Amino acid sequence: MNQPRTDLHAARRCDLEQHFCPGGCGRAVPNDRYACGPCWRKLPGHLQRSIGRTAGDPVLSPARTCAFTAAVTFYTALFSGPTARPRRDGG
Ligand SMILES: [Zn+2]
Repeated sequence: MNQPRTDLHAARRCDLEQHFCPGGCGRAVPNDRYACGPCWRKLPGHLQRSIGRTAGDPVLSPARTCAFTAAVTFYTALFSGPTARPRRDGG
């Protein structure tokens, strides 16, 4: 088999103690953190606080799921470029 080395490397890093950073940087992050430092700092304060408040919740609690989904939505908008970023004025 001539499987790409990068796929094998990624599979090894995706274990029970760490996950891929949701910020899309490709880093492995310990499970007690949501994202790597640089990607965490990209999140607006209210999203950081939402995640922080649910830190002790069960993984699939509604509040935690909501906080994580909001953060992933933010990152997705960030990847899509400045014109696709969510508006802060609610419009
Ligand atoms: Zn990251």
